[in-house]
Amino acid sequence: PPPGEPVLTARRLHVRFGGFTALDGVDLDVPAGRVTAVIGPNGAGKSTLFHCLAGTLHPARGEVRLAGRDLTRRPAHARTRLGIARTFQQLAVFPTLTVAENVRVGSEQGSVSDPAAVERTLRLLGLDGPVRALPAAGLPTGTLRRVELARALAGAPRVLLLDEPAAGLDSAEVAALARVLRALAADGMALLVVEHDLDLVADLADVVHVMAAGRIVASGPPEGVLDAVHRGAGP
Ligand code: ADP
Ligand code: MG
Repeated sequence: PPPGEPVLTARRLHVRFGGFTALDGVDLDVPAGRVTAVIGPNGAGKSTLFHCLAGTLHPARGEVRLAGRDLTRRPAHARTRLGIARTFQQLAVFPTLTVAENVRVGSEQGSVSDPAAVERTLRLLGLDGPVRALPAAGLPTGTLRRVELARALAGAPRVLLLDEPAAGLDSAEVAALARVLRALAADGMALLVVEHDLDLVADLADVVHVMAAGRIVASGPPEGVLDAVHRGAGP
């Protein structure tokens, strides 16, 4: 789809845990060529929404569509095949595999398994030097986050979902991450970022959605939305 057109859409998502309503009718569009951010206080429902999009949680009501196709009841691995990649808040790399092998596994799980895409992704994330041959175990957090992002990207996804990608990174690493994510969006990918770091969101996002108590309570470009948040209208 052209930039700005929704690729992944969620409509009227409801999730309950026992008697507790975690998502209370959430609508969300994730457009091509844009970085969409979801912010909000702890417990707002951000990760629950993320899991509904990734397929690791199924809503009681509502639907999730990829380019119009109903995915609501499709499991996570099927969504990965269809072009929805994700990263994990807790790093999920194979410790005994090398950096390049981890990225190759990602390529095989994705929608397109292409050795050239593996090499391109290693280069994009600065992992094409000697580090490519090192086992993932023991690498610093910043490098592991890049490995994990490369793993997600190597299958040439249409949509990339990121839960707190800046966690554990220093400011130079956050700036480098922002550059990579912006480049991916400029290339047409649809990105959704759930993030605590409001500076990163201000830097990165085209559209920000603010969640509170299981609902989206404000949406707009980061300038306006983050000003309102800083004035105390939100988290
Ligand atoms: P956020 O990511 O915005 O911090 P979450 O989506 O993780 O919020 O959680 C939203 C609410 O749902 C929280 O109150 C949390 O305790 C609750 N919750 C999340 N997952 C579960 C679960 N598996 N079982 C019960 N309650 C849950
Ligand atoms: Mg969370």
